[in-house]
Amino acid sequence: MDISKIESIIRENGYEDFRWLSGVDVAVCQWPRFKCMFGCSTYGKKGTCPPSVPSIEECRKFFNEYEQIAVIHIRGKLDNPEDRKEWSRKTNINLLKLEKAAFLSGHPKAFLLFMDECRICDECPGNRIECKNLHLSRPCPEALGVDVFSTVRKLGYPIEVLTDYQQEMNRYSFLMIE
Ligand code: SF4
Repeated sequence: MDISKIESIIRENGYEDFRWLSGVDVAVCQWPRFKCMFGCSTYGKKGTCPPSVPSIEECRKFFNEYEQIAVIHIRGKLDNPEDRKEWSRKTNINLLKLEKAAFLSGHPKAFLLFMDECRICDECPGNRIECKNLHLSRPCPEALGVDVFSTVRKLGYPIEVLTDYQQEMNRYSFLMIE
């Protein structure tokens, strides 16, 4: 694979901070799924979140099929917490350009994981079948059982539990290539 070509695509779309990871090194665990099921207010309300996603076992197999994943680091600090939804929506839509460009450059397996839950639409029916933007919707790593904390720390990236909205967010999008 021509890594430099993919790296150019990522940079051309405004992302300078990314590192490469193999799918076998992605920590896929049961605990993120349990956190989705018990305690998350959007459980069952997003078409790209549990329970509208594959099992943890299937997710593990999915990541194992990729040897090259670009983990893209996105920082965000918003003065108004209400702005987070729109920031996520715009960022995720922009990130989709990477998947399209990678695909068109000869990588049929190219697949993007959003840096946050899908917020493309104001109202979400909460399942795959009735999704209003099937061609745009993608899951985030957490929805596929990824322990993002331990996964990105393997790469030396920062990530902490945030305790208030004044702290900077460190979000991560995965561009799955080969
Ligand atoms: S694209 Fe819209 S309808 Fe589909 S999962 Fe995302 S928010 Fe829900």
